[in-house]
Amino acid sequence: MPAIARVQPLTRTRAVRGPFDYRIDPAQEPIGVGSVLRIPFGGRRTLGVVVALAAESEVPAERLAVPEEVLDASLPPDLVGLAEWMAREYCSTEARALSLVLAPGTAEGVRARRVLVAELTADGAAALADPGMSLTAGQRALLTRLAEQAPAVAASLGTPALRRLERRGLVTLQSRVHGRRPVERRLGSAEAVAPPLTADQADVLAPILDALRRGGAAGEPFLLHGVTGSGKTEIYLRAVQAALQAGRTAIVLVPEIALTPQVLWRFQVRFGDVVAVLHSALGAGERHDEWLRLRDGRARVCVGPRSAIFAPLPDLGLIIVDEEHESSYKHEGDPRYDARSVASERARRSGAVLVAGSATPRPESIHTMLRLRLPRRVDHRPMPHVEVLDMRGAREPLHPDTRMALADLRRAGGKAIVLLNRRGWSNFLSCRSCGHVWLCPDCEVALVLHRQGGYMACHHCGHRERVPERCGECGSVTVARHGAGTERIEYELRQALGGDGFPVFRLDADAATLERRAGILQSFAGAPCGVLVGTQMVAKGHDFPDVTLGVVLDADQTLRFPDFRAEERTFALITQLAGRTGRGTGAGRVLVQTLAPDARAIAYATRHDSDGFVADELRRREILSYPPYATLIRIICSAVEEGPAVSAATEIARRLPPSGPTVLGPAPLFRLRGRARSQLVIKASDRAAAIVAINTAVDGVAPGVARHGVNVSVDVDPQ
Ligand code: ADP
Ligand code: ZN
Ligand code: ZN
Repeated sequence: MPAIARVQPLTRTRAVRGPFDYRIDPAQEPIGVGSVLRIPFGGRRTLGVVVALAAESEVPAERLAVPEEVLDASLPPDLVGLAEWMAREYCSTEARALSLVLAPGTAEGVRARRVLVAELTADGAAALADPGMSLTAGQRALLTRLAEQAPAVAASLGTPALRRLERRGLVTLQSRVHGRRPVERRLGSAEAVAPPLTADQADVLAPILDALRRGGAAGEPFLLHGVTGSGKTEIYLRAVQAALQAGRTAIVLVPEIALTPQVLWRFQVRFGDVVAVLHSALGAGERHDEWLRLRDGRARVCVGPRSAIFAPLPDLGLIIVDEEHESSYKHEGDPRYDARSVASERARRSGAVLVAGSATPRPESIHTMLRLRLPRRVDHRPMPHVEVLDMRGAREPLHPDTRMALADLRRAGGKAIVLLNRRGWSNFLSCRSCGHVWLCPDCEVALVLHRQGGYMACHHCGHRERVPERCGECGSVTVARHGAGTERIEYELRQALGGDGFPVFRLDADAATLERRAGILQSFAGAPCGVLVGTQMVAKGHDFPDVTLGVVLDADQTLRFPDFRAEERTFALITQLAGRTGRGTGAGRVLVQTLAPDARAIAYATRHDSDGFVADELRRREILSYPPYATLIRIICSAVEEGPAVSAATEIARRLPPSGPTVLGPAPLFRLRGRARSQLVIKASDRAAAIVAINTAVDGVAPGVARHGVNVSVDVDPQ
């Protein structure tokens, strides 16, 4: 047994870089790479992860501290390696990366719940059979109970009595992990028996099964590009089944479980108890125990959102990324990892097959992965008809054709989904007399009116204030409301259509909890007719067979973002909403209201031409050196005052090699949460070299920057 553990303390500061040596006490639980320890560190106690073992240390043994406790939730060593890679790849620190791969709740003090269980020993069985043995009637009853059913929870039988029998060698008492399990949620129809595949499905499944047989390692990752309703989930299910049959395990990543619970349910029905879920709507204890169930091989399939990519599964054979275009795969904390990139790295390291699927895959994925096509909907149901409605010069938020289509739908008793990617009542308020605009005190953005709640809110920092009765600048009482959000559309729709028997539901981030969101979706699914209005949440992979009308309001809103992904987003949003309509027997129809009826992304979406769109998009990106033809890295320096933020950005730029990547900036960004921000954008053709250079530059300024209260955040592959 090695004498020294190299431990990475889980601290937040960039300035502290481990690992540090600790002395292993042979009397403690065994320690290995991945062990999670409670250690004395710098006069405090903290958690630490063992990243290596060594025979000796440069520090004299008597000066080395000994870990105080070895936790149950030790990490599999491959996750330690993955975290080390993640720290480098996303210009973060090992401590922060390790914190992300820990069992959920570890840092907050969640521990496995242990219970004492009792079992009969051989001597105990013999004693029971021997009538001459001196046992009280109670003791005899206890032993009989254990002979019939063991192990039993000690507390339920009386621990002191069992302890006395233990001392006589008739019973053993052991502490075991007692798992807390989340309740399953039954949703929609899902069959335990797999339906026969369509010819298209059989064609795309074959190469995936082939790769699984070869053990993954050599193959390219697969991109399952299938139109909405083409039966991609069935392919995932079959691939998981094959991985399990080969004795391996699988991770299935989904964008957000609360919004698409059907997918999870289909896996639970097909595979039963070996499926574990990891998501934030579970209790802390449940999440912790599901994690242990995966690590210890009691569960072999993990379904969950982006963090499920760190599921501690041994013998990983398959990773599925459903709806791979979803921006929720990007983590906005530090490290700013992208679960899709981590998935491909983890697949590479463990020889697993990677299958990403979408109806609107990212141009990056089309460029780098092996594409499999599902060009038709299951049963050859037609794609919905998409019409563009020109809103230039319009005064009302709803086009006359939209009103008419909704009125027809109400008469027929059907269902529709209306998407507007902006919540609240109106975008901003201004004073009609002096032009004053109500802004967030901490961010340079307008406050959005939420009429129902009676407040104005900043959608960047969450600041709230009362709705003004008069202008604070000039005292005027005439306040103008500009633009419309989902709350106003909900109101308009109620006015136009509502009343008994035709409910209007609204789904957006105002429904704060996941439970609440799932509830709204369930109500809409259960209603015989009605409208669901909301932000992009309504366009996720829901499968409501009776929705026949989809409406996108202000479709070019996403195009107005100054971002190279604006067109990709707009195309995906319209296509995904179209994907929610006409999934049952009725034909689907989609109306797209826009101020830019000729925009490329909108034109391609109306034709369901995802190939044409991507080809066009890739040409444009090649000319402009955008991903996948270059790597983008964004560095943001923020501080209370503008000066230090700009100097830090300037200093980082100065430290980057002159012959290296293209550096744009420093450029000012709007103030956020009371901090001025300065941004550098780096475009690199050599990704690895750029990441090394940036790590060096950021580490170089770290001490000075911390002194001036500047915060530096690096975002590789920003969204
Ligand atoms: P996608 O994920 O591509 O949008 P889904 O996996 O939701 O599509 O499938 C669409 C519908 O088709 C679902 O209701 C699913 O149960 C059904 N389906 C998929 N494959 C088959 C099949 N081979 N036979 C019959 N029905 C199928
Ligand atoms: Zn005013
Ligand atoms: Zn704000």
